[in-house]
Amino acid sequence: MSESSVPSLNHQPKPSTLVMKFGGTSVGTAEAMTQAVHIVIDAKRTWDRVVVTTSALSGVTNLLLDSANAAARGETQPYIQAAQELRQKHYSVIQPLIPNPTRQYQVKQDIDHLINDFISLCQAIAILGEATPRALDAVGSLGERMAVRILAPALESKSVPAQFVESTLLVITDDHFQSAHPDFTETTHCTRQVLEPILAQNEVPVVTGFIGATPGGVTTTLGRGGSDYSAAILAAALPADEVWIWTDVDGVMTADPRLVPNARTINELSYREVSELAYFGAKVLHPKTIIPVIDAGIGLRVCNTFNPGHPGTRLVSDKQVTQNHGTIKAVTAVRGLQLITVEGRGMLGVPGVAARTFGAVAATGTSVPLITQASSEQTICFAVPMEATAEILRSLQDTFANEIARQDIDRVWATEEVVIITIVGEGMRSTPGISGRIFSALGEKCVNVIAIAQGSSEVGMSLVVAVEDILPAVQCLHDLTLKTTTTMTTG
Ligand code: ASP
Ligand code: MG
Repeated sequence: MSESSVPSLNHQPKPSTLVMKFGGTSVGTAEAMTQAVHIVIDAKRTWDRVVVTTSALSGVTNLLLDSANAAARGETQPYIQAAQELRQKHYSVIQPLIPNPTRQYQVKQDIDHLINDFISLCQAIAILGEATPRALDAVGSLGERMAVRILAPALESKSVPAQFVESTLLVITDDHFQSAHPDFTETTHCTRQVLEPILAQNEVPVVTGFIGATPGGVTTTLGRGGSDYSAAILAAALPADEVWIWTDVDGVMTADPRLVPNARTINELSYREVSELAYFGAKVLHPKTIIPVIDAGIGLRVCNTFNPGHPGTRLVSDKQVTQNHGTIKAVTAVRGLQLITVEGRGMLGVPGVAARTFGAVAATGTSVPLITQASSEQTICFAVPMEATAEILRSLQDTFANEIARQDIDRVWATEEVVIITIVGEGMRSTPGISGRIFSALGEKCVNVIAIAQGSSEVGMSLVVAVEDILPAVQCLHDLTLKTTTTMTTG
């Protein structure tokens, strides 16, 4: 840790360190895990030190949590059946990947132990009639704990020395169960203390993603999809030179290929761009993931387990990104939202209306993905997930009961389902004419824009359209990703 500051005559170059994370689909079947094993073998050829972290096998976390929630409602059948499914799913990967009979037997025993824990936890939940966040973390963490117990011996079966590591020993968090925050100082200390000796023996640590523990050792999780975050946390702690996130697509796409058949992989994205994308539903990387790696200046790549020769998408710092003026890089769409409007002529110039509006929303525990207010101050409008709308309307009606009675606020109402379309690109910054092209394209397709929001980062713009306009809107805006670089000189 301190060798870099000590001048030495026989100077040893710093060993290169790579952290790789495998998503659920990258380890979800025997074929997938075989690929993952080959990817690790390859990486070991070029990197001095390789750390692996993995998600649960695909579908497992959902199965675990659904069973626990059913148990809380008194349904015992789902977890009994899930236990069988879990055994089958994991055994079907163990058999081909760990051919040695003794080793295979041991690993199956490990899996059976964890499945028995699962059954006991669900029994306890069923008796209590309640699944607390803490209990759900105990259950939800089992998927990753099973995955590492297979992946590490699978590597050893291919002569790659490896050992599994419980990240409860490395990632120290607060007790915000189901979405815990790491204590980076403690985590750095523990991660180095546990992983350095393993790496020094030239072994590959295979670390559970998604999971942490409180200082007292109680298991927590970092939130759904949190194993990307685990990779970033480990990389920042070591520190690593790079983090590669292995998934089942060729990196980050210009649009959802189910909506836009000619969507392409984006070669390079800035951190600012990926944060805008991540917020708006391109299921790529949780924005939290990138914070530790930006802070530590670590390289990040998203690549495809099933097409490892493809370079995927490289994430670069905001300063490094190639500034293509006028370039729109990606278009995303999020469904399942409604716009709520608080409207009234008596709101003009009255301080505190916005604070009380969002206070009322916050009281329902809902996070707001988009807000707009024009300078007439007569409406405040924001998007919320559809399932929260009724409760938020009630909360606003209570909060503004007096104003509504006095008719300072005329009404509080919600639209039908809407979609937030977000257009992202560093090249949109300080480039005049971009919004013109965006709105012309939408106009040509007769798409009506209900609301607009652009943050001052200017890297993303969000538009709200009716749900039936999703396809024409996303497709015509995606066409702009192909065109934008060439049109700037025309006047
Ligand atoms: N297995 C966890 C989940 O499904 C974490 C992850 O996959 O990143 O949310
Ligand atoms: Mg996952």
